[in-house]
Amino acid sequence: MVCLRIRSSHAPIMTCDNGIMTSLPLVFDAPKRGRPPTHFADLDQAARVAALGELGLPKFRADQLARQYYARLNGDVEEMTDLPAGARSKVGEALFPQLLTPVRDISCDDGSTRKTLWRLHDGTLLESVLMRYTDRNTLCISSQAGCGMACPFCATGQGGLDRNLSTAEIVDQVRAAARTLRDGEFGEPGRLSNIVFMGMGEPLANYKRVVSAVRQITSPAPHGLGISARHVTVSTVGLAPAIRRLADEDVPVTLAVSLHTPDDELRDTLVPVNNRWSVAEVLEAARYFADSNGRRVSIEYALIRDVNDQPWRADMLGEKLRRSLGGLAHVNLIPLNPTPGSEWDASPKDVEREFVRRVREQGISCTVRDTRGQEIAAACGQLAAEENDASPGGATS
Ligand code: SF4
Repeated sequence: MVCLRIRSSHAPIMTCDNGIMTSLPLVFDAPKRGRPPTHFADLDQAARVAALGELGLPKFRADQLARQYYARLNGDVEEMTDLPAGARSKVGEALFPQLLTPVRDISCDDGSTRKTLWRLHDGTLLESVLMRYTDRNTLCISSQAGCGMACPFCATGQGGLDRNLSTAEIVDQVRAAARTLRDGEFGEPGRLSNIVFMGMGEPLANYKRVVSAVRQITSPAPHGLGISARHVTVSTVGLAPAIRRLADEDVPVTLAVSLHTPDDELRDTLVPVNNRWSVAEVLEAARYFADSNGRRVSIEYALIRDVNDQPWRADMLGEKLRRSLGGLAHVNLIPLNPTPGSEWDASPKDVEREFVRRVREQGISCTVRDTRGQEIAAACGQLAAEENDASPGGATS
């Protein structure tokens, strides 16, 4: 996959003895700026009916619009031909503002991976990545503009948090990709089957909107996009209370925890949110999640040369997972996608093989993830960073 929760940064990083240091603060509360216009997908049924009433339109139009948006994948009211022509422009203005404007698409992996850079109403940039596999079509989506988790290896993290995405800005990434696939604009016509929240942002730091988006992504048409919750993966760097809260929701998604190292000492710098919730607390929350929905938790581990790839760390990882999650853990090793100018590099293949062997020796399943998109600025955040670099006064991450 291309969209990883670990990304080589373009930004120079100050280093300390263990080679890692971040000077950025953690930001949990998004700045209240650039609020996007309200969209149909931001509203519940009662609010949709009320909004239509204000436009002088009857209640049944709410279901009609839902069918158009979620089942027919139309985001533009001009395509909603069962809506009276005279009503379309007012409905469009009030309920279907254009939230995402494509800036550019880049394809790689022989055309089976496509990354789209979108511009939002306030000029914010975000990315989503569509990947075709033989047995599935996966979309990696963003949940925030920027990110406040300050991971030192990550282009997005180095740029800080701009704002939370609205529910509709999240859902519309999915609708747009489903339509692209259906219409054969990206290879043979197909169906979007899998969603991973592994793009820009920490999904659980934008909790309410992400959960609302997940409900709309997974509800059957015409009230949602009809993607199986089992095929939706929510990834987190380890916001333990939010993991527990998600476990208690009626949304049986797959949880992916970006652990990246089993020891607090290194994780405190590699994944700074560890200073708030330790490895033990994160694994306890993951266990609670696994017990609640009976699904295996995916443990994401980006292997970085000479940083977290030592044999003793593989042993420690396997042991800690065996004790905390047992058969409910699956380790996804991610070979780091190196970026020109970055001081982070992928581990050599023999080191990677030994790491896998040692984790498996503890009875924990462990595989190496296919990293799509090496040819393009593949790690989430990089494309937006490049676009900003190219703009006058743009960000430098
Ligand atoms: S949590 Fe944020 S800063 Fe950390 S890797 Fe993910 S996007 Fe980057």
